[in-house]
Amino acid sequence: MHLSDGFGRSFKYLRLSVTEACNFRCSYCLPDGYRKCAGPEPLNLDEIRRIATAFSELGIHKIRLTGGEPTIRRDFDAIATAIATLPLVKKLALTTNGYRLATRAQTWFDAGVRGLNVSLDSLDPARFQQITGHDRCNEILRGIDAAFETGFEQVKINAVYMKGINDHEVDAYLRLVQHQPLSVRFIELMETGDHAAFFRKHHISSESIADKLLQEGWTPKLKAADAGPANEYLHPDYQGSIGLIAPYAKDFCKSCNRLRFSSLGKLHLCLFGEFGVPMRALLQSDDQLEELKARLLVAVKGKASSHHLATGNSGQTSNLSAIGG
Ligand code: SAM
Ligand code: SF4
Repeated sequence: MHLSDGFGRSFKYLRLSVTEACNFRCSYCLPDGYRKCAGPEPLNLDEIRRIATAFSELGIHKIRLTGGEPTIRRDFDAIATAIATLPLVKKLALTTNGYRLATRAQTWFDAGVRGLNVSLDSLDPARFQQITGHDRCNEILRGIDAAFETGFEQVKINAVYMKGINDHEVDAYLRLVQHQPLSVRFIELMETGDHAAFFRKHHISSESIADKLLQEGWTPKLKAADAGPANEYLHPDYQGSIGLIAPYAKDFCKSCNRLRFSSLGKLHLCLFGEFGVPMRALLQSDDQLEELKARLLVAVKGKASSHHLATGNSGQTSNLSAIGG
């Protein structure tokens, strides 16, 4: 029993959001900060363990914890341990804004986290503060060093590439990966319901970075079957790599191998889909496992062939903190 859709895509990779809350105020995501509304609490540890168990028994072998900021949860270490110790989960990864990385890298490694994506949208502390509302750029860079010292082999930096904000920093990121096995991935700004004007002002294609890399002797890396959405580039003089994530590129969705599950218990078949499929009622007892798996198998069959971002339709997604980017 494996998760597959009607377009020949099969799914081995889940992004699991464990909270919508975040302590940062990134201008493209939560510019006014997270505000808690009345409503259900995020999934508890048992619910998270059950959904991860069901997915792993359906062939998902890589799970990435995301949010909001997943590491603001007090029980984050217990969540990581619960998932990492499931027998069928081969890799547990984390996407974080990195605010606790300098002090928690070892704890997370011990809990079983093996892949780290750290968001860092500028290498200039003042600009970083403008984007996120926090003067923590250097602290996050120290956190990345701490992660390597701890034993993390795979650390990636996510930088949302924005016209007029950080599009002149590409060379600085290239210098960063020269002597460290870091992968920097430039993500094109995506349009979400809350930020149409910001998107129009700051969206820029990453093609100019691709052209620059090719001119400077970088070569595209062949993609592994279970690779993420980035097109990676390598250079013999650089220890690290550069990745470009271009969701507006033609055929981006064809190789989609990801599913998303929200912190409120909904399955999201696409970051930019309409409504999530509610599953929380099936997360209340271990006895519901088989029913949950059957429901997931059916729901995934309904995944659409592609998002509709190119026609300005960003679905119901108001910002990415809700489902985790
Ligand atoms: N708080 C964590 C973080 O920032 O890494 C995890 C959640 S965040 C929603 C996941 C990723 O989505 C981050 O790398 C963030 O930069 C990216 N992201 C958020 N909104 C975006 C947008 N509108 N366009 C492109 N990337 C976005
Ligand atoms: Fe928080 Fe991540 Fe959104 Fe920034 S991108 S506001 S760190 S959830």
